[in-house]
Amino acid sequence: MSEFNLIKQYFTHPTTHTDLGVGDDAALFRVAEGHQCVVTSDMLVAGRHFFADVDARFLGHKALAVNLSDLAAMGAKPRGFTLALALPAVNAAWLADFSGGMMDLARFWDCDLIGGDTTRAVSDNLDGLVINITAFGEVPTGAAVLRSGAAVGDDVWVSGTLGGAARALALMLQHRSGEGLSAADEADLKVLREKLEQPVPRVELGQALRGVASAMLDVSDGLAGDLLHVLKASNVSAVLDADALPLPENVQQLDALSAWRYALTGGDDYELCFTANAARRDELNQIASRVGVPLTRIGEVIEAADKPTLHYRSAKTTHLVKDMAGWGGYNHF
Ligand code: ADP
Ligand code: MG
Repeated sequence: MSEFNLIKQYFTHPTTHTDLGVGDDAALFRVAEGHQCVVTSDMLVAGRHFFADVDARFLGHKALAVNLSDLAAMGAKPRGFTLALALPAVNAAWLADFSGGMMDLARFWDCDLIGGDTTRAVSDNLDGLVINITAFGEVPTGAAVLRSGAAVGDDVWVSGTLGGAARALALMLQHRSGEGLSAADEADLKVLREKLEQPVPRVELGQALRGVASAMLDVSDGLAGDLLHVLKASNVSAVLDADALPLPENVQQLDALSAWRYALTGGDDYELCFTANAARRDELNQIASRVGVPLTRIGEVIEAADKPTLHYRSAKTTHLVKDMAGWGGYNHF
């Protein structure tokens, strides 16, 4: 199939609010009056961000989901995205699944695929696959939720649960190493795998938190490292109550230090972590029920003594808390 037929067949879809989509040298779209355009880019590399043999439908979904998660973290409404691919010689079924998974999520959030680029990958099996999506959203001018707004005394909140995706990845790696999984591990993986392969971007929640959250980001590389970005940008510290961390049942049942390690240093959760004034608690509980996403208060913002630091406390144990000092998130280099 030629590059052009491939684009036409799999990556040209009707748009709902784009002036000019796929087919010209560039796309045209308008941002609503009184709004700013929010732009984010996320690249997924085979072998680094996903197993090359992952279900193509899930991969298409995730490639867009991680970008929508970044838009959500700014409080933005998704509008459109471009898709750049370094594509090995894949078959029609793979392409149909990949674009199907991606477009299902795109249509759900009314986010138009407006363009992209398609090149042949260097390696001609799926190990050579590279996917880059740039997503565009909009926010009322000045209303985006930045990392820099956390104030001393604010609560720290997180959506959903943490650590499930990292636990699933650990089990999959163990399985792939040939070590084998116990029946209990296999059962856990069955439940948690979805967290890793089909993350749910908190798009509606992110927008609902505009004007409520003082600072926000999405948790993609582990809460410990990610929250530190907020603390540095806001020049504050925070104390997290480790006992309050919301964990999936299959992670909760591990020993406390392992569970916390998955929750705090594992990646791929794509939950929103934000700070908010303590006077907003009732409102936040209402938002949680309205959008159907659980919100958990996990700590407080405190003054930065020396430099922005993440502290932990636990009523269960003090020696574990010592082990946790210095835990960071995932870092590519
Ligand atoms: P050019 O050579 O001018 O950059 P291309 O031949 O690369 O244009 O692309 C032709 C059209 O197809 C453009 O509108 C481009 O945005 C779109 N396109 C290319 N690859 C993709 C893709 N993977 N997904 C969506 N649109 C794509
Ligand atoms: Mg091109």
